[in-house]
Amino acid sequence: VDPVKENYVRKVKNCVFSIAFPTPFKSRVRLVAVSKEVLEDILDLDLSVSETDDFIQLVSGEKILFGSVPLAHRYGGHQFGIWADQLGDGRAHLIGIYMNRKGEKWELQLKGSGKTPYSRHGDGRAVLRSSVREFLGSEAVHHLGIPTSRAASLVVSDDEVWRDQFYDGNVVKERAAVVLRVAKSWFRIGSLEILAHYGELDLLRPCTGCSAYSRSSMYSVAFSRCSRTLLDFIIQEHFPSVDVGEPNRYVDFFSVVVSETAQLIALWTSVGFAHGVCNTDNFSLLSITIDYGPFGFMEAYNPDFVPNTSDDERRYKIGNQANVGMFNLNKLLQALNPLLDPRQKQLAALILEGYPDLYYTRFRELFKAKLGLLGERKGDEDLIAFLLHLMEKTAADFTMTFRQLSEITQSQLQELNIPQQFWALQTISKHELFPAWVSQYLLRLKSNMNDSDSERRKRMMTVNPRYVLKNWMAESAVRKAERNDFSEVRLLQQVLQHPFQKHSTAEKAGYASPTPSWAKNLRVSCSS
Ligand code: AMP
Ligand code: MG
Ligand code: MG
Repeated sequence: VDPVKENYVRKVKNCVFSIAFPTPFKSRVRLVAVSKEVLEDILDLDLSVSETDDFIQLVSGEKILFGSVPLAHRYGGHQFGIWADQLGDGRAHLIGIYMNRKGEKWELQLKGSGKTPYSRHGDGRAVLRSSVREFLGSEAVHHLGIPTSRAASLVVSDDEVWRDQFYDGNVVKERAAVVLRVAKSWFRIGSLEILAHYGELDLLRPCTGCSAYSRSSMYSVAFSRCSRTLLDFIIQEHFPSVDVGEPNRYVDFFSVVVSETAQLIALWTSVGFAHGVCNTDNFSLLSITIDYGPFGFMEAYNPDFVPNTSDDERRYKIGNQANVGMFNLNKLLQALNPLLDPRQKQLAALILEGYPDLYYTRFRELFKAKLGLLGERKGDEDLIAFLLHLMEKTAADFTMTFRQLSEITQSQLQELNIPQQFWALQTISKHELFPAWVSQYLLRLKSNMNDSDSERRKRMMTVNPRYVLKNWMAESAVRKAERNDFSEVRLLQQVLQHPFQKHSTAEKAGYASPTPSWAKNLRVSCSS
Protein backbone atom coordinates (compact mmCIF):
# COMPACT_ATOMS: atom_id res chain seq x y z
CA VAL A 1 0.00 0.00 0.00
CA ASP A 2 1.07 3.56 -0.63
CA PRO A 3 3.06 4.58 2.47
CA VAL A 4 1.96 8.23 2.23
CA LYS A 5 -1.13 8.61 4.36
CA GLU A 6 -2.18 12.08 3.34
CA ASN A 7 -4.82 12.64 0.76
CA TYR A 8 -3.35 14.94 -1.85
CA VAL A 9 -3.11 14.42 -5.57
CA ARG A 10 0.21 12.90 -6.57
CA LYS A 11 2.14 10.37 -8.59
CA VAL A 12 2.19 7.15 -6.58
CA LYS A 13 4.85 4.48 -6.99
CA ASN A 14 5.39 0.88 -5.98
CA CYS A 15 1.98 -0.06 -4.78
CA VAL A 16 -1.43 -1.24 -5.84
CA PHE A 17 -3.61 0.81 -3.48
CA SER A 18 -3.54 3.99 -1.45
CA ILE A 19 -5.46 4.24 1.78
CA ALA A 20 -8.00 6.98 1.17
CA PHE A 21 -11.08 7.93 3.11
CA PRO A 22 -14.31 9.08 1.48
CA THR A 23 -15.20 12.74 1.96
CA PRO A 24 -18.65 13.16 3.55
CA PHE A 25 -21.04 15.62 1.94
CA LYS A 26 -21.56 18.95 3.62
CA SER A 27 -25.27 18.96 2.95
CA ARG A 28 -28.14 16.61 3.61
CA VAL A 29 -28.16 13.41 1.57
CA ARG A 30 -31.14 11.43 0.39
CA LEU A 31 -31.33 7.82 -0.64
CA VAL A 32 -33.24 7.87 -3.92
CA ALA A 33 -32.85 4.37 -5.32
CA VAL A 34 -31.81 0.95 -4.12
CA SER A 35 -31.62 -2.41 -5.78
CA LYS A 36 -33.56 -4.84 -3.65
CA GLU A 37 -31.97 -7.68 -5.52
CA VAL A 38 -28.41 -6.53 -4.87
CA LEU A 39 -29.15 -5.89 -1.20
CA GLU A 40 -30.90 -9.19 -0.63
CA ASP A 41 -29.12 -11.60 -2.96
CA ILE A 42 -25.61 -10.22 -2.85
CA LEU A 43 -25.28 -8.38 0.43
CA ASP A 44 -27.64 -10.52 2.57
CA LEU A 45 -29.44 -7.36 3.69
CA ASP A 46 -33.11 -6.98 4.27
CA LEU A 47 -34.53 -4.18 2.14
CA SER A 48 -35.75 -2.43 5.30
CA VAL A 49 -32.11 -1.88 6.31
CA SER A 50 -31.89 0.69 3.54
CA GLU A 51 -34.23 2.92 5.52
CA THR A 52 -31.80 3.23 8.43
CA ASP A 53 -29.45 6.14 9.04
CA ASP A 54 -26.53 3.71 9.31
CA PHE A 55 -27.14 2.52 5.79
CA ILE A 56 -27.39 6.01 4.33
CA GLN A 57 -24.24 7.05 6.13
CA LEU A 58 -22.42 4.03 4.82
CA VAL A 59 -23.50 4.39 1.20
CA SER A 60 -22.83 8.13 1.08
CA GLY A 61 -19.30 7.76 2.46
CA GLU A 62 -20.04 9.48 5.73
CA LYS A 63 -19.17 6.49 7.87
CA ILE A 64 -17.11 3.46 7.16
CA LEU A 65 -17.62 0.08 8.69
CA PHE A 66 -15.59 -0.88 11.73
CA GLY A 67 -12.37 -2.53 10.59
CA SER A 68 -12.61 -1.30 7.01
CA VAL A 69 -9.53 0.32 5.48
CA PRO A 70 -10.90 2.24 2.49
CA LEU A 71 -8.67 2.13 -0.55
CA ALA A 72 -8.23 3.91 -3.84
CA HIS A 73 -6.74 1.68 -6.51
CA ARG A 74 -3.75 2.78 -8.53
CA TYR A 75 -3.99 1.97 -12.22
CA GLY A 76 -2.91 3.39 -15.53
CA GLY A 77 -4.26 2.88 -18.98
CA HIS A 78 -4.45 3.63 -22.66
CA GLN A 79 -7.09 6.28 -23.27
CA PHE A 80 -8.27 6.62 -26.86
CA GLY A 81 -5.24 4.62 -27.96
CA ILE A 82 -2.63 6.64 -26.10
CA TRP A 83 -0.77 5.76 -22.91
CA ALA A 84 -2.26 8.06 -20.28
CA ASP A 85 0.07 7.13 -17.43
CA GLN A 86 -1.33 7.11 -13.91
CA LEU A 87 -5.11 7.27 -13.69
CA GLY A 88 -6.48 5.37 -10.70
CA ASP A 89 -9.64 5.66 -8.63
CA GLY A 90 -9.98 9.42 -8.74
CA ARG A 91 -13.45 9.47 -7.24
CA ALA A 92 -14.03 5.93 -6.04
CA HIS A 93 -13.33 4.20 -2.76
CA LEU A 94 -13.19 0.48 -2.17
CA ILE A 95 -14.82 0.22 1.23
CA GLY A 96 -14.48 -3.49 1.77
CA ILE A 97 -15.04 -7.01 0.57
CA TYR A 98 -18.14 -8.78 1.68
CA MET A 99 -18.43 -12.54 1.80
CA ASN A 100 -22.08 -13.48 1.63
CA ARG A 101 -24.03 -16.54 2.78
CA LYS A 102 -23.37 -18.22 -0.53
CA GLY A 103 -19.63 -17.85 0.07
CA GLU A 104 -19.25 -15.30 -2.74
CA LYS A 105 -16.91 -12.37 -2.22
CA TRP A 106 -18.04 -8.99 -3.49
CA GLU A 107 -15.99 -5.82 -3.56
CA LEU A 108 -17.98 -2.78 -2.46
CA GLN A 109 -17.04 0.48 -4.07
CA LEU A 110 -18.42 3.98 -3.66
CA LYS A 111 -18.30 6.19 -6.74
CA GLY A 112 -18.41 9.95 -6.36
CA SER A 113 -17.20 9.81 -2.77
CA GLY A 114 -14.49 12.45 -2.90
CA LYS A 115 -10.89 13.07 -3.83
CA THR A 116 -8.08 10.54 -3.65
CA PRO A 117 -4.40 10.69 -4.63
CA TYR A 118 -5.63 9.81 -8.14
CA SER A 119 -8.08 12.68 -8.62
CA ARG A 120 -5.76 14.59 -10.97
CA HIS A 121 -7.76 17.69 -11.98
CA GLY A 122 -11.08 16.27 -10.89
CA ASP A 123 -13.16 17.12 -7.85
CA GLY A 124 -13.72 13.53 -6.78
CA ARG A 125 -17.45 13.84 -7.33
CA ALA A 126 -20.05 12.42 -9.71
CA VAL A 127 -23.14 14.32 -10.77
CA LEU A 128 -26.69 13.07 -10.37
CA ARG A 129 -27.34 12.56 -14.08
CA SER A 130 -24.35 10.26 -14.62
CA SER A 131 -25.05 8.43 -11.37
CA VAL A 132 -28.63 7.73 -12.44
CA ARG A 133 -27.30 6.47 -15.76
CA GLU A 134 -24.77 4.20 -14.06
CA PHE A 135 -27.36 2.88 -11.62
CA LEU A 136 -29.92 2.08 -14.32
CA GLY A 137 -27.40 1.06 -16.98
CA SER A 138 -25.59 -1.53 -14.93
CA GLU A 139 -28.78 -3.06 -13.59
CA ALA A 140 -30.23 -3.18 -17.12
CA VAL A 141 -27.13 -4.85 -18.54
CA HIS A 142 -27.22 -7.44 -15.76
CA HIS A 143 -30.81 -8.35 -16.52
CA LEU A 144 -29.97 -8.77 -20.18
CA GLY A 145 -27.72 -11.59 -19.02
CA ILE A 146 -24.44 -9.75 -19.56
CA PRO A 147 -21.62 -9.81 -16.99
CA THR A 148 -21.41 -6.43 -15.27
CA SER A 149 -20.81 -4.59 -12.05
CA ARG A 150 -24.05 -4.04 -10.12
CA ALA A 151 -25.45 -0.97 -8.42
CA ALA A 152 -26.77 -1.26 -4.87
CA SER A 153 -27.83 2.27 -4.07
CA LEU A 154 -27.96 5.85 -5.21
CA VAL A 155 -27.82 8.83 -2.88
CA VAL A 156 -28.04 12.44 -3.88
CA SER A 157 -26.77 15.41 -1.90
CA ASP A 158 -27.31 19.15 -2.12
CA ASP A 159 -23.55 19.68 -2.54
CA GLU A 160 -22.93 21.49 -5.77
CA VAL A 161 -20.29 20.74 -8.35
CA TRP A 162 -19.53 22.49 -11.61
CA ARG A 163 -19.61 20.73 -14.94
CA ASP A 164 -19.16 21.74 -18.57
CA GLN A 165 -21.54 19.15 -19.95
CA PHE A 166 -20.63 19.47 -23.61
CA TYR A 167 -17.20 21.06 -23.29
CA ASP A 168 -18.57 24.20 -24.91
CA GLY A 169 -17.63 26.58 -22.12
CA ASN A 170 -21.10 26.50 -20.65
CA VAL A 171 -20.43 25.56 -17.02
CA VAL A 172 -23.39 24.73 -14.81
CA LYS A 173 -23.95 23.77 -11.21
CA GLU A 174 -25.12 20.22 -10.64
CA ARG A 175 -25.81 18.12 -7.57
CA ALA A 176 -23.33 15.50 -6.45
CA ALA A 177 -24.40 11.89 -5.94
CA VAL A 178 -22.85 8.59 -4.89
CA VAL A 179 -23.52 5.11 -6.21
CA LEU A 180 -22.54 2.04 -4.23
CA ARG A 181 -21.39 -0.39 -6.88
CA VAL A 182 -20.43 -3.98 -6.34
CA ALA A 183 -18.37 -6.36 -8.44
CA LYS A 184 -16.43 -9.56 -7.89
CA SER A 185 -13.37 -7.50 -8.72
CA TRP A 186 -12.56 -4.02 -9.93
CA PHE A 187 -9.13 -4.89 -11.34
CA ARG A 188 -8.64 -3.69 -14.89
CA ILE A 189 -6.13 -4.13 -17.68
CA GLY A 190 -4.71 -0.81 -16.49
CA SER A 191 -4.07 -2.32 -13.04
CA LEU A 192 -1.30 -4.43 -14.54
CA GLU A 193 -0.21 -1.93 -17.17
CA ILE A 194 0.95 0.61 -14.64
CA LEU A 195 3.15 -1.90 -12.81
CA ALA A 196 4.71 -3.09 -16.05
CA HIS A 197 5.16 0.48 -17.26
CA TYR A 198 7.15 1.46 -14.20
CA GLY A 199 9.02 -1.84 -14.09
CA GLU A 200 7.77 -2.39 -10.59
CA LEU A 201 8.72 -5.90 -10.94
CA ASP A 202 11.27 -6.82 -8.38
CA LEU A 203 8.23 -8.22 -8.80
CA LEU A 204 9.24 -10.19 -11.84
CA ARG A 205 11.80 -12.36 -10.20
CA PRO A 206 10.34 -15.23 -8.20
CA CYS A 207 9.55 -13.36 -5.06
CA THR A 208 10.11 -15.45 -2.03
CA GLY A 209 9.11 -12.55 0.19
CA CYS A 210 5.53 -12.27 -0.84
CA SER A 211 3.01 -14.83 0.17
CA ALA A 212 0.13 -12.46 -0.16
CA TYR A 213 -1.89 -14.50 -2.60
CA SER A 214 -1.91 -17.53 -0.37
CA ARG A 215 -3.45 -15.46 2.38
CA SER A 216 -5.93 -14.43 -0.19
CA SER A 217 -7.10 -11.11 1.06
CA MET A 218 -7.34 -7.75 -0.57
CA TYR A 219 -5.43 -6.16 2.22
CA SER A 220 -2.50 -8.49 1.92
CA VAL A 221 -2.33 -7.53 -1.73
CA ALA A 222 -2.64 -3.95 -0.71
CA PHE A 223 0.33 -4.27 1.56
CA SER A 224 2.51 -6.18 -0.87
CA ARG A 225 4.58 -4.38 -3.44
CA CYS A 226 4.74 -6.75 -6.32
CA SER A 227 2.85 -7.09 -9.59
CA ARG A 228 3.43 -10.81 -9.63
CA THR A 229 1.72 -10.94 -6.28
CA LEU A 230 -1.16 -8.95 -7.68
CA LEU A 231 -1.48 -11.23 -10.67
CA ASP A 232 -1.25 -14.40 -8.61
CA PHE A 233 -3.85 -12.96 -6.26
CA ILE A 234 -6.19 -12.22 -9.15
CA ILE A 235 -5.66 -15.69 -10.59
CA GLN A 236 -6.16 -17.38 -7.26
CA GLU A 237 -9.29 -15.44 -6.44
CA HIS A 238 -11.01 -15.15 -9.78
CA PHE A 239 -9.67 -17.70 -12.25
CA PRO A 240 -10.56 -21.11 -10.83
CA SER A 241 -9.66 -22.79 -14.12
CA VAL A 242 -6.05 -21.55 -13.88
CA ASP A 243 -3.66 -23.36 -11.57
CA VAL A 244 -1.72 -20.77 -9.62
CA GLY A 245 1.12 -23.25 -9.05
CA GLU A 246 1.55 -23.86 -12.77
CA PRO A 247 4.53 -22.26 -14.59
CA ASN A 248 2.30 -21.46 -17.58
CA ARG A 249 -0.30 -19.73 -15.40
CA TYR A 250 0.10 -16.29 -16.96
CA VAL A 251 -0.49 -17.71 -20.43
CA ASP A 252 -3.48 -19.65 -19.15
CA PHE A 253 -4.78 -16.52 -17.48
CA PHE A 254 -4.33 -14.54 -20.70
CA SER A 255 -6.16 -17.19 -22.65
CA VAL A 256 -9.18 -16.95 -20.35
CA VAL A 257 -9.22 -13.15 -20.56
CA VAL A 258 -9.03 -13.31 -24.36
CA SER A 259 -11.98 -15.64 -24.69
CA GLU A 260 -14.08 -13.93 -22.01
CA THR A 261 -13.45 -10.51 -23.58
CA ALA A 262 -14.56 -11.85 -26.97
CA GLN A 263 -17.64 -13.25 -25.29
CA LEU A 264 -18.44 -9.99 -23.50
CA ILE A 265 -18.12 -7.82 -26.58
CA ALA A 266 -20.22 -10.22 -28.65
CA LEU A 267 -22.90 -9.98 -25.97
CA TRP A 268 -22.73 -6.19 -26.07
CA THR A 269 -23.14 -6.27 -29.85
CA SER A 270 -26.09 -8.64 -29.61
CA VAL A 271 -28.11 -6.09 -27.62
CA GLY A 272 -26.78 -3.01 -29.37
CA PHE A 273 -24.81 -1.83 -26.34
CA ALA A 274 -21.94 0.57 -26.94
CA HIS A 275 -19.78 1.12 -23.88
CA GLY A 276 -18.58 4.50 -25.05
CA VAL A 277 -15.15 4.64 -23.43
CA CYS A 278 -13.38 1.34 -24.10
CA ASN A 279 -10.05 2.51 -22.69
CA THR A 280 -7.86 -0.16 -21.08
CA ASP A 281 -8.55 1.32 -17.65
CA ASN A 282 -12.24 0.64 -18.20
CA PHE A 283 -11.74 -2.98 -19.30
CA SER A 284 -12.14 -5.44 -16.47
CA LEU A 285 -9.70 -8.34 -16.11
CA LEU A 286 -12.76 -10.44 -15.26
CA SER A 287 -14.43 -9.31 -18.48
CA ILE A 288 -17.40 -7.76 -16.80
CA THR A 289 -18.88 -4.46 -17.98
CA ILE A 290 -17.50 -1.71 -15.75
CA ASP A 291 -17.44 2.04 -15.62
CA TYR A 292 -20.66 3.28 -17.11
CA GLY A 293 -20.10 6.71 -18.58
CA PRO A 294 -21.43 7.85 -21.96
CA PHE A 295 -22.69 4.38 -22.89
CA GLY A 296 -25.68 3.92 -25.15
CA PHE A 297 -28.05 1.38 -26.60
CA MET A 298 -28.19 1.79 -30.34
CA GLU A 299 -31.58 2.72 -31.72
CA ALA A 300 -31.56 2.79 -35.55
CA TYR A 301 -29.14 0.07 -36.61
CA ASN A 302 -25.88 1.69 -37.58
CA PRO A 303 -22.39 0.17 -37.18
CA ASP A 304 -21.08 3.75 -36.86
CA PHE A 305 -23.20 4.44 -33.79
CA VAL A 306 -21.16 6.37 -31.20
CA PRO A 307 -22.88 7.10 -27.91
CA ASN A 308 -20.24 9.55 -26.69
CA THR A 309 -20.32 12.93 -28.41
CA SER A 310 -16.82 13.68 -27.08
CA ASP A 311 -15.47 10.78 -29.19
CA ASP A 312 -14.74 12.86 -32.29
CA GLU A 313 -12.77 10.18 -34.06
CA ARG A 314 -15.56 7.66 -33.49
CA ARG A 315 -12.96 5.29 -32.09
CA TYR A 316 -15.48 3.56 -29.85
CA LYS A 317 -18.34 3.26 -32.33
CA ILE A 318 -20.31 0.08 -31.88
CA GLY A 319 -18.92 -1.51 -35.03
CA ASN A 320 -15.38 -1.03 -33.75
CA GLN A 321 -15.78 -2.46 -30.26
CA ALA A 322 -14.56 -5.91 -31.23
CA ASN A 323 -11.40 -4.43 -32.76
CA VAL A 324 -10.85 -2.31 -29.70
CA GLY A 325 -11.09 -5.48 -27.63
CA MET A 326 -8.14 -6.80 -29.62
CA PHE A 327 -6.20 -3.58 -29.08
CA ASN A 328 -6.85 -3.74 -25.34
CA LEU A 329 -5.89 -7.40 -25.09
CA ASN A 330 -2.69 -6.56 -26.90
CA LYS A 331 -1.97 -3.96 -24.23
CA LEU A 332 -2.65 -6.57 -21.57
CA LEU A 333 -0.20 -8.91 -23.28
CA GLN A 334 2.43 -6.18 -23.29
CA ALA A 335 1.95 -5.80 -19.54
CA LEU A 336 2.33 -9.54 -19.05
CA ASN A 337 5.36 -9.82 -21.31
CA PRO A 338 7.97 -9.23 -18.58
CA LEU A 339 6.59 -12.31 -16.83
CA LEU A 340 6.79 -14.60 -19.85
CA ASP A 341 9.65 -16.62 -21.31
CA PRO A 342 10.13 -16.63 -25.10
CA ARG A 343 8.09 -19.78 -25.63
CA GLN A 344 5.25 -18.43 -23.53
CA LYS A 345 5.34 -15.15 -25.44
CA GLN A 346 4.89 -17.05 -28.66
CA LEU A 347 2.04 -19.02 -27.22
CA ALA A 348 0.32 -15.91 -25.93
CA ALA A 349 0.67 -14.20 -29.31
CA LEU A 350 -1.02 -17.20 -30.94
CA ILE A 351 -3.82 -17.04 -28.42
CA LEU A 352 -4.37 -13.39 -29.25
CA GLU A 353 -4.50 -14.25 -32.95
CA GLY A 354 -7.41 -16.53 -32.14
CA TYR A 355 -9.46 -13.66 -30.73
CA PRO A 356 -11.29 -12.66 -33.94
CA ASP A 357 -12.45 -16.24 -34.42
CA LEU A 358 -13.68 -16.46 -30.85
CA TYR A 359 -15.56 -13.23 -31.33
CA TYR A 360 -17.19 -14.22 -34.63
CA THR A 361 -18.14 -17.67 -33.38
CA ARG A 362 -19.95 -16.14 -30.43
CA PHE A 363 -21.43 -13.37 -32.56
CA ARG A 364 -22.84 -15.98 -34.97
CA GLU A 365 -24.30 -18.07 -32.16
CA LEU A 366 -25.97 -15.07 -30.59
CA PHE A 367 -27.43 -13.71 -33.81
CA LYS A 368 -28.63 -17.13 -34.89
CA ALA A 369 -30.46 -17.36 -31.59
CA LYS A 370 -31.86 -13.87 -32.16
CA LEU A 371 -33.34 -15.17 -35.41
CA GLY A 372 -34.52 -18.43 -33.88
CA LEU A 373 -32.28 -20.56 -36.09
CA LEU A 374 -31.51 -24.06 -34.87
CA GLY A 375 -28.59 -26.16 -36.05
CA GLU A 376 -25.94 -25.09 -38.51
CA ARG A 377 -26.81 -24.37 -42.15
CA LYS A 378 -24.81 -22.96 -44.99
CA GLY A 379 -25.85 -19.38 -45.56
CA ASP A 380 -26.76 -18.59 -41.94
CA GLU A 381 -24.18 -15.85 -41.79
CA ASP A 382 -25.46 -14.34 -45.04
CA LEU A 383 -28.99 -14.35 -43.70
CA ILE A 384 -27.83 -12.37 -40.65
CA ALA A 385 -25.72 -9.98 -42.70
CA PHE A 386 -28.53 -9.45 -45.21
CA LEU A 387 -30.96 -8.49 -42.44
CA LEU A 388 -28.44 -6.12 -40.83
CA HIS A 389 -27.86 -4.54 -44.23
CA LEU A 390 -31.58 -3.90 -44.69
CA MET A 391 -31.81 -2.49 -41.17
CA GLU A 392 -28.91 -0.17 -41.86
CA LYS A 393 -30.39 1.03 -45.16
CA THR A 394 -33.79 1.72 -43.63
CA ALA A 395 -32.53 2.90 -40.21
CA ALA A 396 -34.76 0.31 -38.59
CA ASP A 397 -34.72 0.12 -34.80
CA PHE A 398 -32.28 -2.63 -33.82
CA THR A 399 -33.94 -3.80 -30.61
CA MET A 400 -37.47 -3.71 -31.92
CA THR A 401 -36.75 -5.31 -35.31
CA PHE A 402 -35.49 -8.42 -33.56
CA ARG A 403 -38.20 -8.27 -30.94
CA GLN A 404 -40.95 -7.94 -33.51
CA LEU A 405 -39.51 -10.79 -35.55
CA SER A 406 -39.96 -12.78 -32.34
CA GLU A 407 -43.55 -11.68 -31.91
CA ILE A 408 -44.82 -11.90 -35.47
CA THR A 409 -46.08 -15.22 -36.78
CA GLN A 410 -44.60 -16.93 -39.81
CA SER A 411 -47.87 -16.64 -41.66
CA GLN A 412 -48.05 -12.90 -41.02
CA LEU A 413 -44.53 -12.58 -42.34
CA GLN A 414 -45.26 -14.71 -45.34
CA GLU A 415 -48.14 -12.49 -46.38
CA LEU A 416 -45.86 -9.48 -46.03
CA ASN A 417 -48.84 -7.85 -44.46
CA ILE A 418 -47.27 -6.34 -41.40
CA PRO A 419 -49.65 -5.14 -38.71
CA GLN A 420 -49.14 -1.64 -37.40
CA GLN A 421 -47.97 -2.71 -33.96
CA PHE A 422 -44.82 -4.05 -35.66
CA TRP A 423 -43.57 -0.59 -36.45
CA ALA A 424 -39.90 -1.51 -36.76
CA LEU A 425 -40.72 -4.27 -39.24
CA GLN A 426 -42.83 -1.82 -41.18
CA THR A 427 -39.78 0.41 -41.45
CA ILE A 428 -37.51 -2.33 -42.73
CA SER A 429 -40.22 -3.67 -45.05
CA LYS A 430 -39.95 -0.44 -47.08
CA HIS A 431 -36.74 -1.86 -48.55
CA GLU A 432 -37.32 -3.50 -51.92
CA LEU A 433 -35.27 -6.52 -50.91
CA PHE A 434 -37.25 -7.20 -47.76
CA PRO A 435 -39.49 -9.81 -49.46
CA ALA A 436 -36.35 -11.61 -50.65
CA TRP A 437 -34.99 -11.70 -47.14
CA VAL A 438 -38.30 -12.92 -45.74
CA SER A 439 -38.49 -15.80 -48.18
CA GLN A 440 -34.91 -16.85 -47.37
CA TYR A 441 -35.68 -16.61 -43.68
CA LEU A 442 -38.88 -18.63 -43.89
CA LEU A 443 -37.11 -21.27 -45.95
CA ARG A 444 -34.36 -21.46 -43.35
CA LEU A 445 -36.88 -21.78 -40.51
CA LYS A 446 -38.30 -24.85 -42.28
CA SER A 447 -34.97 -26.59 -41.75
CA ASN A 448 -35.18 -26.17 -37.96
CA MET A 449 -35.59 -29.68 -36.60
CA ASN A 450 -38.44 -30.40 -34.15
CA ASP A 451 -39.59 -26.82 -34.06
CA SER A 452 -42.95 -25.10 -34.24
CA ASP A 453 -43.74 -21.48 -34.86
CA SER A 454 -44.88 -20.93 -31.29
CA GLU A 455 -41.70 -22.59 -29.98
CA ARG A 456 -39.63 -20.35 -32.22
CA ARG A 457 -41.39 -17.24 -31.03
CA LYS A 458 -41.12 -18.23 -27.39
CA ARG A 459 -37.42 -18.96 -27.82
CA MET A 460 -36.72 -15.70 -29.62
CA MET A 461 -38.58 -13.69 -27.01
CA THR A 462 -36.16 -14.93 -24.35
CA VAL A 463 -33.16 -13.48 -26.21
CA ASN A 464 -34.60 -10.39 -27.88
CA PRO A 465 -35.50 -7.82 -25.22
CA ARG A 466 -38.58 -5.67 -25.57
CA TYR A 467 -37.01 -2.96 -23.41
CA VAL A 468 -33.48 -1.62 -23.30
CA LEU A 469 -32.33 1.60 -21.65
CA LYS A 470 -32.45 3.86 -24.66
CA ASN A 471 -30.90 7.23 -24.16
CA TRP A 472 -34.21 9.08 -24.26
CA MET A 473 -35.57 6.93 -21.43
CA ALA A 474 -32.54 7.59 -19.27
CA GLU A 475 -32.75 11.28 -20.16
CA SER A 476 -36.42 11.47 -19.27
CA ALA A 477 -35.74 9.83 -15.90
CA VAL A 478 -32.77 12.14 -15.32
CA ARG A 479 -34.78 15.29 -16.06
CA LYS A 480 -37.39 14.28 -13.50
CA ALA A 481 -34.68 13.29 -11.02
CA GLU A 482 -33.17 16.75 -11.35
CA ARG A 483 -36.53 18.01 -10.08
CA ASN A 484 -36.49 15.49 -7.24
CA ASP A 485 -38.97 13.19 -8.89
CA PHE A 486 -37.42 9.73 -8.87
CA SER A 487 -40.53 7.91 -10.02
CA GLU A 488 -39.23 7.24 -13.51
CA VAL A 489 -35.88 6.00 -12.18
CA ARG A 490 -37.84 3.46 -10.18
CA LEU A 491 -40.15 2.61 -13.05
CA LEU A 492 -37.23 1.99 -15.38
CA GLN A 493 -35.49 -0.03 -12.72
CA GLN A 494 -38.56 -2.23 -12.43
CA VAL A 495 -39.12 -2.60 -16.15
CA LEU A 496 -35.49 -3.29 -16.98
CA GLN A 497 -35.41 -6.07 -14.41
CA HIS A 498 -37.62 -8.05 -16.80
CA PRO A 499 -36.61 -6.76 -20.22
CA PHE A 500 -38.06 -9.78 -22.03
CA GLN A 501 -41.56 -9.48 -20.54
CA LYS A 502 -44.27 -7.16 -21.75
CA HIS A 503 -45.15 -4.75 -18.98
CA SER A 504 -48.27 -2.58 -19.18
CA THR A 505 -46.79 0.50 -17.45
CA ALA A 506 -43.78 0.29 -19.75
CA GLU A 507 -46.05 0.17 -22.78
CA LYS A 508 -47.91 3.23 -21.53
CA ALA A 509 -44.61 5.04 -21.04
CA GLY A 510 -43.77 4.24 -24.67
CA TYR A 511 -40.67 2.16 -23.91
CA ALA A 512 -41.43 -0.19 -26.79
CA SER A 513 -42.53 2.61 -29.13
CA PRO A 514 -40.53 4.68 -31.59
CA THR A 515 -38.21 7.23 -30.02
CA PRO A 516 -40.23 10.39 -29.31
CA SER A 517 -39.45 13.38 -31.47
CA TRP A 518 -38.25 15.54 -28.55
CA ALA A 519 -35.36 13.12 -28.10
CA LYS A 520 -34.03 13.07 -31.66
CA ASN A 521 -30.98 15.19 -30.94
CA LEU A 522 -29.98 14.14 -27.44
CA ARG A 523 -26.27 14.09 -26.71
CA VAL A 524 -24.18 12.43 -24.03
CA SER A 525 -20.60 13.38 -23.34
CA CYS A 526 -17.81 12.18 -21.07
CA SER A 527 -18.65 14.90 -18.56
CA SER A 528 -19.88 13.20 -15.44
P1 AMP B 1 -13.23 7.51 -16.93
O1 AMP B 1 -13.04 8.06 -18.30
O2 AMP B 1 -14.55 7.83 -16.32
O3 AMP B 1 -12.95 6.05 -16.88
O4 AMP B 1 -12.18 8.22 -15.97
C1 AMP B 1 -10.82 8.28 -16.26
C2 AMP B 1 -10.06 8.72 -15.06
O5 AMP B 1 -10.48 10.01 -14.62
C3 AMP B 1 -10.17 7.81 -13.85
O6 AMP B 1 -8.91 7.78 -13.25
C4 AMP B 1 -11.19 8.51 -13.01
O7 AMP B 1 -11.06 8.18 -11.64
C5 AMP B 1 -10.84 9.97 -13.24
N1 AMP B 1 -11.95 10.87 -13.00
C6 AMP B 1 -13.06 11.05 -13.76
N2 AMP B 1 -13.85 12.00 -13.22
C7 AMP B 1 -13.27 12.42 -12.09
C8 AMP B 1 -13.61 13.39 -11.09
N3 AMP B 1 -14.72 14.11 -11.15
N4 AMP B 1 -12.74 13.55 -10.07
C9 AMP B 1 -11.61 12.85 -10.00
N5 AMP B 1 -11.24 11.95 -10.89
C10 AMP B 1 -12.05 11.73 -11.94
MG1 MG C 1 -12.85 4.62 -15.66
MG1 MG D 1 -16.05 6.84 -15.65
